Amino acid sequence: MNLRGLPSVEQLLQTRLAAELVACYGRPLTLQAIRSALDEVRWRVSKSGEATLPDREILLTQAASLLHMWTAPTLLPVINASGVILHTNLGRAPLSTAAIQSMDTVSRGYSNLEFNLETGKRGSRLIHAETLLQRLTGAEAAVVVNNNAAAVLLVLSALANRKSVIVSRSQLIEIGGGFRIPDVMRQSGAKLVEVGTTNRVHLSDYEEALSRPIALVMHAHRSNFKMIGFTGEPERKEIADLAHKFGVLFADDLGSGTLLATERYGLAHEPTVQESLAAGADLVCFSGDKLLGGPQAGIIIGKADLLARIKKHPLARAVRADKLCLAALTATLLHYLKDEAEREIPIWRMISARPKQVKARAGHWAAELGQGEVLASESTIGGGSLPGESLPTWVLALTVKSAGRFLEKLRQEQPPVIARTENDRILLDPRTVLPEQDGALLVNLENVLQSQKLKRNP
Ligand SMILES: *Cc1c(COP(=O)(O)O)cnc(C)c1O
Repeated sequence: MNLRGLPSVEQLLQTRLAAELVACYGRPLTLQAIRSALDEVRWRVSKSGEATLPDREILLTQAASLLHMWTAPTLLPVINASGVILHTNLGRAPLSTAAIQSMDTVSRGYSNLEFNLETGKRGSRLIHAETLLQRLTGAEAAVVVNNNAAAVLLVLSALANRKSVIVSRSQLIEIGGGFRIPDVMRQSGAKLVEVGTTNRVHLSDYEEALSRPIALVMHAHRSNFKMIGFTGEPERKEIADLAHKFGVLFADDLGSGTLLATERYGLAHEPTVQESLAAGADLVCFSGDKLLGGPQAGIIIGKADLLARIKKHPLARAVRADKLCLAALTATLLHYLKDEAEREIPIWRMISARPKQVKARAGHWAAELGQGEVLASESTIGGGSLPGESLPTWVLALTVKSAGRFLEKLRQEQPPVIARTENDRILLDPRTVLPEQDGALLVNLENVLQSQKLKRNP
C-alpha cells in the first residue's frame, strides 16, 4: 500500500478545521494530535495493509477527538446521592458559600498571607487560623498543615523523634489510604511502646509502661470501626492525668474532630475538640474536611510551648497549608464562632436535615420522574467518623432490570450521579444531594431511564 497519498502535517494545518483546532487547543498540541492521527494511519496500513487512505476531514476529525480526550478534565463534580455524607472518595466535605468566596477573593490577587500590614514586614501565615482556633477552643496555640496525617507525623517528629511513644494496642489503627499508626510512628523516628491488648487496656498497663523513659502518650480515635463485646479502656482524662503525673505529654489524634455535639443530631457522642482539651490533652489533632466541614487540612492545637517547637520543625515547612486552604478554613471556622455552622456548613445542613424534609424531596423526585417508591432507609456519616452510626432517612427507590448497569449509566452522565443499590434496586438519598443539584439529578435520571426504555422497546 502506498502511503504517498497521505496529506502532510503542513497540508493538514492549512485547512479551516485545523485553524479552528489551533484556536481552541494551541498550535503545539494540535500538531501533536495531527501527527498522532497520521501515525495511526501509517501503523494500520503497515499492519493490515488497509486499502483506502482516510481523507483530510477524517484525519482532522481524529485529531480533534484526540485533542478533546487529552484536554478533558479528569477531576469533575459529581452528584452524591449515596447518602454517605463524608465520602472520602468523593472529596469529603463540600464547602460553604463563604469558604468558596474567601478562596476566590484571596486567590484572585495578592494577599497578606505572610505579610504584617501593621509593621510592613514579614508576617506568619499561621496567625490567620490560629486566632480563630484559640477563640473557638480556648487552646493556647494552633498550627494548620496539609492534612491530619501530616499533623500526626509532624507532632511525633517534632516531639518524639528517637524517643518512645505509648499507644494502646486497641488504637493501632489503619485509617485507609495507607495511614497506619505504627507506620507513621516509624516514619517519625518515634519508638512504639504498645500497651494492653486489642480489646482491653487498663490504666495499670499505661502505668507500667510509664516507668521507662517516655516522650509522649498518644491516643488515637478508632475512626472507622467499632469494638463490641468484652472491651474497655480508660477515659482520656485518666490517661492524661497519669501521663502528667509522670511528666509525660498526652497527645490526642481525634480524627474527625467535631466542634458540635453529635448527639444533638441523634448520633452517638463523638468526642469533641473542646472535650479533649478539657480532659487534659497537651495537643489535639484533627482533620479540616471531616466533621469540621472545611477544606482538606490538619489542625494541631494545644500548649503554646509545644506548638512553638512544632512550628520550628523542618517538616512543618514541608507540610504547611496553602493560602486557599487557609482562606476556606478561616471562613469555615467563622461559621462556628458566629453560631451559624448548622445553617451555613453543608455537611451540618445534611446532618441536621429532618427526615420529613428529606422525605418531601424524595417524594418530589418520584413525582417528577413519574416512577419509583419513597422508602425509609439510612444515611451514614462516613469519612472515618462515627462508624456504625446512621441517620434515619428517606430514599427514592427505582426498580430496574440490572442495578449494576444502571449505576454504570448514572456514572456516565454529566455530572455523574453516584447512587447505591439494595436488593437490586437503585436507592437515591436526597440528604447528600445539594439542593441546587436537584434539577441536574432529575435530568440525568430521566436520561438513563429513557435509554433503558428505548432498549426494551426498540
Ligand atoms: C482521618 C484520620 C486521620 C487522617 O486524616 P487526614 O486528614 O485524612 O489526613 C488520622 N487519624 C485519624 C484518627 C483519622 O480518623
